[in-house]
Amino acid sequence: MSKLILVFLGPPGVGKGTQAARLAKDLTLPHISTGDLFRDHLKRDTPLGQKAKGYMNEGKLVPDELVVDLVMDRIANQDCAAGFILDGFPRTVNQDLALEKALSAKGEKVSAALYFDASRETIVERISGRRTCRACGAMSHVKYAPTKAAGVCDACGSETYQRVDDAAEKVSERLKEYDAKTGPLVPHYRGKGLLREFDAGGGVDEIYAEVKAFAEGLKD
Ligand code: AMP
Repeated sequence: MSKLILVFLGPPGVGKGTQAARLAKDLTLPHISTGDLFRDHLKRDTPLGQKAKGYMNEGKLVPDELVVDLVMDRIANQDCAAGFILDGFPRTVNQDLALEKALSAKGEKVSAALYFDASRETIVERISGRRTCRACGAMSHVKYAPTKAAGVCDACGSETYQRVDDAAEKVSERLKEYDAKTGPLVPHYRGKGLLREFDAGGGVDEIYAEVKAFAEGLKD
């Protein structure tokens, strides 16, 4: 079996993180979310966290040079030897070129880019109800996936909160960034024959069944 390297692509709030986490667990592959990596740096107040904070809080993308090194370090880890799932990276064509270069130096390449899309109305509703656990990063939704006790993470019992960049006034900036900088990755991956599109407008389980079947097919 070749090394499975999957890219999860799509607008913020579309639900790709939920799908990526579930697939990573089922396939026992690391789930690498650059948003989570940055939030961890912010929490620990590292020099990288300090550099990224302003961009993140404004709903802007962090500059490529800060992101690429972070990811390259992470995928060099031993736990990525059998493959990995990238969630929220690449987010610019330039980031993909950096990834491609690093992988090809090892004789590897991205296996597929899974592209999730839904209407803007759905996305805004998903983001505005989204809550994140302060301790473990698990996500919930006040309407669609509520925690058993309001404001308490089901997974670890810590407090859930609304990310600064999930606030309604930041969402339009994030979508603008997405359209301008990340959107071009769709034709880019399509041109490479790597794009697989998923309609993310439906229910989580229904979408996951398709995602899992597709990923299982790639392993053969
Ligand atoms: P996410 O949790 O994926 O929505 O990411 C939260 C924020 O982290 C984004 O709005 C960006 O500010 C930053 N970020 C995460 N991944 C990237 C990336 N690949 N390139 C640039 N910025 C990123």
